[in-house]
Amino acid sequence: MKLIFLGPPGAGKGTQAEKICKDYDIVQLSTGDILRTNRKHGTELGKKAQSYMDAGELVPDQIIIDMIKEELKKPELNKGYILDGFPRTVPQAEELDKLMKEMGQNLDAVLILEVQNEELVRRLTSRRICRTCGKSYHLIYNPPKVEGVCNVDGGELYQRDDDKEEPIRNRLQVYENQTMPLIEYYISKNMAHKIDGIGKIKEIYSKIQEVLEKI
Ligand code: ADP
Ligand code: ADP
Repeated sequence: MKLIFLGPPGAGKGTQAEKICKDYDIVQLSTGDILRTNRKHGTELGKKAQSYMDAGELVPDQIIIDMIKEELKKPELNKGYILDGFPRTVPQAEELDKLMKEMGQNLDAVLILEVQNEELVRRLTSRRICRTCGKSYHLIYNPPKVEGVCNVDGGELYQRDDDKEEPIRNRLQVYENQTMPLIEYYISKNMAHKIDGIGKIKEIYSKIQEVLEKI
């Protein structure tokens, strides 16, 4: 199974992708997580991406495309994958189509999580991330068992620099301007499945499962 997860920052893509991967035995490929790991290790890619990420801007397409080309070659992706946070622009989507065609792969579905801006701001301002595995929590909606500590690996939880008010506002604008056109792109390819992202995490997951059973 090969899926794309689309939706604004804070819609719950990472949260739901983690569940899907566990239940369907596929791999999550989050471009945001890969970029943050590169920053942590001070790689060239991490240094190039840094200023864009902190400002809530998109990293230039060519950098992301070069990165995804390498990622898609990884053997663990053979069992299927879910792309979380990629593509985010029409040129990225066109490049993905080309790459998948070259690799003889077919996309099964594009899941689009819809959540209104005021709820996104509530989710993002209180989001906390594990430094080690990248799993996300929310101080009120989805707290860890022990404050400040990841349930899975005991890693320290932190607030992302771009989960502050100013970059959040910019990211929401960037989503509307640069990523929303992808919804039409995938509707025209008959791939798009819109899902209401408001509600309990479990309820949203059930709606996703209904979609996945039909594809
Ligand atoms: P994305 O990957 O789309 O940016 P996340 O999965 O990191 O979003 O979720 C954003 C924040 O909202 C996190 O703090 C997460 O715990 C929380 N969250 C996710 N799903 C829900 C939900 N259905 N209701 C309330 N909060 C949620
Ligand atoms: P969110 O949880 O808000 O959806 P991500 O973790 O996916 O955010 O992305 C964080 C940042 O990483 C983005 O604001 C952007 O700077 C960069 N980024 C991630 N994926 C892409 C992409 N496909 N194209 C361009 N920039 C990206």
